[in-house]
Amino acid sequence: MSEIICTRCGSTHCKKNGHIHNGKQNHRCKDCGRQFVMDNEQKIIPEWIRCMILKALLERLSLRGICRTFSVSLTWLLSYIVEVYEPCQPI
Ligand SMILES: [Zn+2]
Repeated sequence: MSEIICTRCGSTHCKKNGHIHNGKQNHRCKDCGRQFVMDNEQKIIPEWIRCMILKALLERLSLRGICRTFSVSLTWLLSYIVEVYEPCQPI
């Protein structure tokens, strides 16, 4: 697990502080008292899920449907599509 760093002061003296409404882990900095939720854009998507998403894309499922089904963000999905289709682009 990556280190939790305060988004305001950069301190690593942070502790878990329950969850916010959408289930994300909330944290609280012991140094400055700021509460924050770590950005989970960096979440690692396992290879088998990537394969499933690729199949879903080929089946022309909607992007938002894929996001909901596999619990990935639309931002991540779009960057994944670029990553997957880039080598296939005609020059
Ligand atoms: Zn802080």
